[in-house]
Amino acid sequence: MKKVFKSGFVTIIGRPNVGKSTLMNELIGQKIAITSKKAQTTRNRIQTVFTSEEGQIVFLDTPGINKAKNKLGEYMLNIAEKTLNEVDLVLWLVEPSTYIGAGERYIIEQLQKVKTPVILIINKIDSVAEAEVFKAINAYKDVYEFAEVIPVSALRAKNTEDVITTIFEYLPEGPQFYDEDTVTDQPERQIVAELIREKALRLLDQEIPHGIAVVIDSMKDRPKSNIMDIDATIICERDSHKGIIIGKQGAMLKKIGTNARMDIEHLLDAKVNLKLWVKVKKDWRDSDMMLKNYGYKND
Ligand code: GDP
Ligand code: MG
Repeated sequence: MKKVFKSGFVTIIGRPNVGKSTLMNELIGQKIAITSKKAQTTRNRIQTVFTSEEGQIVFLDTPGINKAKNKLGEYMLNIAEKTLNEVDLVLWLVEPSTYIGAGERYIIEQLQKVKTPVILIINKIDSVAEAEVFKAINAYKDVYEFAEVIPVSALRAKNTEDVITTIFEYLPEGPQFYDEDTVTDQPERQIVAELIREKALRLLDQEIPHGIAVVIDSMKDRPKSNIMDIDATIICERDSHKGIIIGKQGAMLKKIGTNARMDIEHLLDAKVNLKLWVKVKKDWRDSDMMLKNYGYKND
């Protein structure tokens, strides 16, 4: 008898910083989505793929559902809501807290508009006492009818296998969309750009990071060697930001470059020669054309 192969699309939603990228990275076992302590780190909807004998799960990492403040915000809101309708299953990540605020209520409103089953994931259980986790579960059960509730620690890989097992329970029989070696359909360039942006986010102060984008100008394999030459530009909104990103005698830019290079080498399994530039483009976040230019497109 042939075993049933299941497949489908799953999206991970939740407030910025609840650990969506961390969970996805842990489930897939490879660093793809960038993570940081600052809000709105994830801008693009990215797909990662989990394949086992049981089936294939295609994950869509959506940006946090927030009220839009500018064109970039609107774009993120649009794709988040559109995704809810298109997937087989929604994973909603929350903190282990009984506080259900305006942000959570807004998400509940969105979830009530769709029929897609929702699994509530209470993340960061390593950071509170067990009793707090139970209280949180009960508080959330009162406000929405979840298909399942799973407490996890994405960071410490606690209970994360349960997430995979449970997802498969909700997926229909289906085809294998991608071959088993595929972990993402994101172009390598885009991942490289995101890794550079992540380092900048981590190393720079407040204000600046949300106003930056990274563009890969060129990415070339050096013939007959395992070396990749990458040229990239960090785009910021102000001259003063440019100065901060470059730092004293180029120290900050060098640090961003060194940190990013290590991750990129790991990702590409090659030696990387990374050259970084910084350019000022005022108000790029409010321009539709510029957003498209930097790859933030609605499909
Ligand atoms: P996202 O904005 O929802 O994608 O959140 P990230 O995955 O970028 O994570 C935000 C922060 O929370 C990072 O500093 C993570 O290390 C941290 N974090 C994620 N998962 C856990 C967890 O299970 N426990 C703890 N203590 N911290 C976590
Ligand atoms: Mg994220």
